[in-house]
Amino acid sequence: MARPKDKKAQSQIASERIGILFTLAAELAPKDKEAADRLVALAHRISLRTNVGIPKRFKIAYCRDCKSYLSSETASYRLDPANKRLRIRCLGCGSVRLLPYRRS
Ligand SMILES: [Zn+2]
Repeated sequence: MARPKDKKAQSQIASERIGILFTLAAELAPKDKEAADRLVALAHRISLRTNVGIPKRFKIAYCRDCKSYLSSETASYRLDPANKRLRIRCLGCGSVRLLPYRRS
């Protein structure tokens, strides 16, 4: 793949593609879990290669360890009010991730 010389354009394209991949994965997940997992793994690789972060709304939708797409069926989401953290447990590999949340 030819890479654009313009760094700004490159990261813009990357974040656009990450968004597209995650929305596609969300559509595919109920029918074909493996395809959704592949799309998420691809989004993760784009993120690594281009140094573009994965937006928070998508961070809760994938497992960092096994790179699988997470939904209410493949993960457990629990709020921890004492520490103001969202606990995401992947039911595939059992890894736990904590994300902070703010009360609005
Ligand atoms: Zn996992």
